[in-house]
Amino acid sequence: MTSSTRPFLNRRLAEFGTTIFAEMSALALRTGSINLGQGFPDTDGPEEVREAAVRALRDGRGNQYPPGPGVPELRTAIAAHQQRWYGLSYDPDAEVLVTAGATEAIAASLLALLEPGDEVIALEPYYDSYAACIAMAGGTRVPVTLRPHEGSFRLDLDELRAAVTDRTRLLLLNTPHNPTGAVLTRAELAAVAELAVERDLLVVTDEVYEHLVFDDAEHLPLAGFPGMRDRTVTIGSAGKTFSFTGWKVGWVTASPPLVAAVRSAKQFLTYVSSGPFQYAVAEALALPDAYFTAFREDMLAKRDLLAAGLKDAGFDVFRTAGTYFVTTDIRPLGESDGFAFCRALPERAGVVAIPNAVFYDHREAGAPFVRFAFCKRAEVLAEAVQRLKTLA
Ligand SMILES: *Cc1c(COP(=O)(O)O)cnc(C)c1O
Repeated sequence: MTSSTRPFLNRRLAEFGTTIFAEMSALALRTGSINLGQGFPDTDGPEEVREAAVRALRDGRGNQYPPGPGVPELRTAIAAHQQRWYGLSYDPDAEVLVTAGATEAIAASLLALLEPGDEVIALEPYYDSYAACIAMAGGTRVPVTLRPHEGSFRLDLDELRAAVTDRTRLLLLNTPHNPTGAVLTRAELAAVAELAVERDLLVVTDEVYEHLVFDDAEHLPLAGFPGMRDRTVTIGSAGKTFSFTGWKVGWVTASPPLVAAVRSAKQFLTYVSSGPFQYAVAEALALPDAYFTAFREDMLAKRDLLAAGLKDAGFDVFRTAGTYFVTTDIRPLGESDGFAFCRALPERAGVVAIPNAVFYDHREAGAPFVRFAFCKRAEVLAEAVQRLKTLA
């Protein structure tokens, strides 16, 4: 869309039109297609967690403004979760902040930590709110491109090092990485940490897919690496971990001065949100290991179903080490323009996918890549795979 159709949008946001998800979801509806575009599950999370929300609502817990930093039960549960899974200790009062989903955590962190003109390094392709939030904060984004290497997308550490300048304030990291499915390795994270310490950078790390890592991949929070505890803002979300994306309960863990800074921005965005759901998420975070294992195994089976089907249909399929998504290369199908391909796919095959190019500044670097979400019921994926066979 051009500025003439949005005459009132300011210059900071002029480049950000309607998101691709709106266009593609409308296309899915119009054509009766299976929507593997947007990443939300088509089944809800655990029944007992839903019931916990109902109970909180009925008991009148959280129906009025909850405390600004989040309800104590949830902040305690978030701290316990970081301890239980990663051995990281956070003070629930001074080092935890509940937000309106990870989306607000990202926005509030950037609005709080950036001065106008500060450079922010983000891994490209990036989650769609990053560029807009950096712009709203007056920052300048500096993309470092993840590139295909032996079947998955990898971070080039030399490129990352070269991207740091005297104006770089912050690294905005995302692992497990949406949309590529890459998970940064221990060695990569150690190198990122070393660089952040050496150049005195803050890091905001979006780890919303922390419990969705597959095969021999391992999720390691950057905050656990040497020198990172006090310069890292770690972001999590109940949406992805418990399949309640509509509840919008997210959080930040960081050192007291960083949490205080993020809270300052957050209080003027939503102030608070999701009252009764905060109590339910506190219970969800304390679910036994069996929940997390079963969740991961279920998603792994879905990944395998979709990845195999896409391969059969003629795509090159990148390995998904984490997240909800499979990224494919459409060139074996004789195509090279992901936009054109995704716009035609609903008519051709009755399936909706997202062109990865929308997540790049260097659009040409992402042109042949297309993302499919597998967080859907097995029968939906099976039907999608059946439909995609017509492409081969
Ligand atoms: C879904 C998603 C978010 C947003 O999470 P919410 O809790 O729904 O706001 C943030 N980052 C990434 C990488 C995501 O995929």
